[in-house]
Amino acid sequence: MSKKILVTGGSGLVGNYLKEIIPEASYVSSKDFDLTDLSQVKKMFKSYRPNIVIHLAAKVGGLIDNLNYPADYYDENILINTNTLLYARKYGVERFIGILSSCAYPDNVESFPLKEESLHEGPPNNIQLSYGISKRSFAVQIEAYNKQYGLRYQYLIPCNLYGITNKLENNKSHFITSLVHKIYEANRDGKKYITLYGDGTPLRQFMFAKDMAEIIKLVIDKNITDSFNVAPRKVFNIKEIARIAIECTNSKLDIKFDSSLPNGQIRKDLDINKMDSLIPDYNFTPFEKGIKYLYDYYKNFNDYEK
Ligand code: NAP
Repeated sequence: MSKKILVTGGSGLVGNYLKEIIPEASYVSSKDFDLTDLSQVKKMFKSYRPNIVIHLAAKVGGLIDNLNYPADYYDENILINTNTLLYARKYGVERFIGILSSCAYPDNVESFPLKEESLHEGPPNNIQLSYGISKRSFAVQIEAYNKQYGLRYQYLIPCNLYGITNKLENNKSHFITSLVHKIYEANRDGKKYITLYGDGTPLRQFMFAKDMAEIIKLVIDKNITDSFNVAPRKVFNIKEIARIAIECTNSKLDIKFDSSLPNGQIRKDLDINKMDSLIPDYNFTPFEKGIKYLYDYYKNFNDYEK
């Protein structure tokens, strides 16, 4: 009998790509079950009785939203994760794949890139402290369950993701989505430059969300139960990223930086040696290709809407 897979957060950025890759799974969103509510979580497990849970659901947003609503980021993520893991075990789920974020890592470590064993070396960056700690707590919870109940549940720690999403409100969207939108709007309005937060120096990795979805599928197919970082090897600073995005969309724009707005964490590049040993030679979507795809999608969409 084939295994029943349940995906929470199925209407989100990663969830929508996962639907293309694992179409046979069941996908739920907050409209189906509010996972902050224990009784709804129970109802969800009772209705689906899954063998495998891919837990994508989370409150996710950009820097400013995190700054404005730190309590919501903490409460909602802690409740969503705690409730879901609690009932996954009670309902005998065999495999559980939770998703953390590079924001869970310490702001500063002795040496970069960030290795899995550095997760508890110091506090996360202050701007996303409550989101980061909620994700870090999830790792602790999963490991505690494995230890106490003899399970092999796991978590993956991705870098920043990008892709087609309907979250376009500025404070909620992620850096790449908002960058591509700024480029699109500047081109449309005949502007000469775009303005970005901070000073352009922070170092980042960015992954096309479809790659993340493919890696989740590989983890299931190859029966990998380790927890590990997921990111492309290439690390850019924000200024380089913006420059590449401008070039690969054939735009002619300058970049200005508003240093009255925060940089966020200065470095959070992930070490991917463990991933390489588990899934050797995974071909990530080149950044230029992903950006071009996103730009063309939003351009066509916005031109169509007009
Ligand atoms: P997303 O696009 O923001 O989607 C979030 C999903 O969670 C949506 O399906 C949403 O449902 C659901 N959700 C939110 N609150 C819920 C609640 N109370 N009850 C039930 N479902 C709820 O997220 P994503 O970008 O796909 O992220 C997927 C996972 O990767 C998350 O765990 C995130 O923390 C992690 N991650 C993301 C990034 C990134 O750059 N995006 C980077 C690293 C890690 P509705 O649509 O109904 O609201």
